[in-house]
Amino acid sequence: MNVNDSEHIGGLLQQEGLKPVSSWQESDLIIINTCAVRQKSEEKLFSLLGRLKPWKQKKKKTLGVIGCVAQLRREEIFAKAPHVDFIVGPDNYHRLLELIKFEAKQMATNWHSDWYEISALPLRASQSSAYVTIMEGCNNFCAYCVVPFTRGREKYRPFTYILDEVKKLADLGYQEIHFLGQNVNSYRDQASGKDLVDILEKANQISGLRWIRFITSHPRYFDQRLAKAMASLEKVCAQLHLPLQAGSNNILSLMNRGYTREEYLEKVAMIREYIPSISLSTDIIVGFPGEEEEDFQQTLEMLEKIKFDNIYSFRFSPRPRTAAAKLEDNVPPETKRQRLLEVQARQKEIQSAKHKTQVGQVMEVLCTGKSKKDERIFSGRNEAYQVINFAANEEVMGKFVLVKITDYGPYSLRGKMHSFVD
Ligand code: SAH
Ligand code: SF4
Repeated sequence: MNVNDSEHIGGLLQQEGLKPVSSWQESDLIIINTCAVRQKSEEKLFSLLGRLKPWKQKKKKTLGVIGCVAQLRREEIFAKAPHVDFIVGPDNYHRLLELIKFEAKQMATNWHSDWYEISALPLRASQSSAYVTIMEGCNNFCAYCVVPFTRGREKYRPFTYILDEVKKLADLGYQEIHFLGQNVNSYRDQASGKDLVDILEKANQISGLRWIRFITSHPRYFDQRLAKAMASLEKVCAQLHLPLQAGSNNILSLMNRGYTREEYLEKVAMIREYIPSISLSTDIIVGFPGEEEEDFQQTLEMLEKIKFDNIYSFRFSPRPRTAAAKLEDNVPPETKRQRLLEVQARQKEIQSAKHKTQVGQVMEVLCTGKSKKDERIFSGRNEAYQVINFAANEEVMGKFVLVKITDYGPYSLRGKMHSFVD
């Protein structure tokens, strides 16, 4: 989501005649986009601001902080880093250009109930794969999560704006779309009542597109209608990120997730019934307040039962204003560290075993990058969103190719390029 926000801001700046430079030292304007989801990223902002001080003092330079930490820590940023010129929260990017131009310090962190469309064409790094926002904010208030306080309440982008953007992207040659929102299952067009399934159905009809994905789904709202649509719409990938967070009902309830482990398992079974080849990934938090050893064992059990294709795992860190910040953060740091290692080690085995079965398969891969170490090695993703590395030349960038899997590691597959896909 932050990558997409930065692309929009890049587009706005470009429309104003500003040009990107190859190193930050050369720039006259630096805008730092920030994430507040975990404590660590917040700490990184303050150390980065310290490092930028000599640059800012050199000549007339402008420095801004935007995003969720800007929203959350506005006073603290100005107090600790007086060399910052402006602070803009996620609901105020449409005002960014106006604020940059002021000489005096500026701050925009108020909320707006209407959707503001940024009309400038986003400055996207990729020419083949694009993020498309469908909603902003979140109403779920999971006990650990700061997002509802930094991005505000849910706001839905009008259906027609979404489809117009997708059509434009397809005309420009984009082949993959990721629809974005904190909780895409809640999407409702205010004018027509259309939902995520309606977006997927319409996007599926747009010629030129090949793959359609969406992120993030909330297990509480993921329903049969959506699973059916995924199964029947050929461009919608058989891939889903469905954050579990924890395996014990006690912790899920303290987290205010709105489902039990049994309900989560039922959802997975329902999804697998409709889409047997579904690639499933999830998020796991270890060390939530009150997490006992037996609760943690139930998280491991869920990994074992479901056998996710990928997981993103985190140690709980208390975030300001959240319900969990009021609970005692009583799992010792060493226990959190151990649990995280254990989750990751268990998942590593699960993934290795799954990847082993894929050797010999031929699959379509959208090439999106290349190795920094070896310029002959390119990488991409398949429909299941797995990372695949293969030897090729520059021609493959942004293209669909067929790759035969020859080897694997726990986090990626390796293969031999066969041919281009027509
Ligand atoms: N809206 C998405 C993304 C939320 S943030 C969703 O609901 O899935 C991404 C992930 O960060 C979360 O799924 C959660 O696993 C993790 N996370 C959020 N707050 C956290 C905290 N306080 N400590 C540790 N991990 C956290
Ligand atoms: Fe945070 Fe929960 Fe909303 Fe995701 S659904 S953004 S975890 S409050």
